[in-house]
Amino acid sequence: MSTYKRLPVTFARGEGALLWDTQDKQYLDALSGVAVCNLGHAHPAVTRAVCEQAGRLLHTSNIYGIAAQEALGDTLTALAGMDRVFFGNSGAEANEAAIKLARLYGHRRGTRSPMIVVMENSFHGRTLATLSATGNRKVQAGFEPLVQGFIRVPYGDLAALQAVADNQQDVVAVLVEPIQGEGGVNVPPADYLPGVRALCDSKDWLMILDEIQTGMGRTGKPFAYQHYDFKPDVMTLAKALGNGVPIGACLARGETAELFAPGNHGSTFGGNPLACAAALTVCKTLSEQQLWDTAASLGEHIMDGLRHALANVRGVIEVRGQGLMIGIALDRPCAELVGRALEQGLLINVTADSVVRLLPPLVMSEQQADHLVSLLSSLLREFVAGK
Ligand SMILES: *Cc1c(COP(=O)(O)O)cnc(C)c1O
Repeated sequence: MSTYKRLPVTFARGEGALLWDTQDKQYLDALSGVAVCNLGHAHPAVTRAVCEQAGRLLHTSNIYGIAAQEALGDTLTALAGMDRVFFGNSGAEANEAAIKLARLYGHRRGTRSPMIVVMENSFHGRTLATLSATGNRKVQAGFEPLVQGFIRVPYGDLAALQAVADNQQDVVAVLVEPIQGEGGVNVPPADYLPGVRALCDSKDWLMILDEIQTGMGRTGKPFAYQHYDFKPDVMTLAKALGNGVPIGACLARGETAELFAPGNHGSTFGGNPLACAAALTVCKTLSEQQLWDTAASLGEHIMDGLRHALANVRGVIEVRGQGLMIGIALDRPCAELVGRALEQGLLINVTADSVVRLLPPLVMSEQQADHLVSLLSSLLREFVAGK
């Protein structure tokens, strides 16, 4: 079905930060399949793990023990400082699990109609509950009635959250992205997430972080909350967790990690041997090479380069981001830049109408990053000059 407006290109193969189309034209990938291929394309360790696992066993069922799932669960909870994890197949499913956990948590506390605070301009997925949580009318329009149980406030606004705390009885959780991705690479004020944590503590609300885009090293730490000194109660992952093999995860800590009991939740494919073997290799490779440090330094390098090249270019409002999650905000809609970049062999994205979004693979070389900066800044200069 026609769910995507597709660009006129089909890729045949890739290697690291490079892709080749069916005509053998080469492209520099500064999008990573939208924050999925953090280790780049055709990463040898992931390829090997997938091939080896496929040769042994693809799937059994969650009604049996799954060694790769247990190994991944141990590795992931240790990396995140969380206690338990549920595996699904996508980001939306990870968030569905988190929403169900929050409701269970509420009902256990005797809250009859548990409410979750969500943000304007957020993105949490396309299933009915997650599109209802999403702060974008375009995602919701036509799919009413929406799922109930969400209260929306502006992102980055602690006073608005405090007002909800003062006026609403049935709130049990806050669901928030550490940096909004689809919403325009919106980096909150430094005191925002610690403030959300403090408010959640004082009200006994769960703090649920959607790290589906920010996780797996992207922002310069394994998970974006590790830039601060707090932990969420629940965190969701997907996108880069399998480097392209579909897998999602909902991690929880403390009492919240014990809420699901057999029969409460499940998934046929979730946590199957193939997906877990891939994700385990992703975790190991990121850790062994400390690739989040590369994301931090390469991200600074790219942002410095762009700020320098675009200083005094009218129409460019700001370059913002953290690690390799980078946005260039323009003063006008700029979707056509995607096609122009494609013609020049560069893959970028535009989100929130007027923000160029870069999500390069963590394995991009400094030389490739410099090429990205020079190509993109000339494209931007021509575009805002009306050429
Ligand atoms: C991509 C994304 C999702 C949805 O993930 P799917 O795998 O497409 O369901 C949810 N939240 C955030 C922050 C995302 O970036």
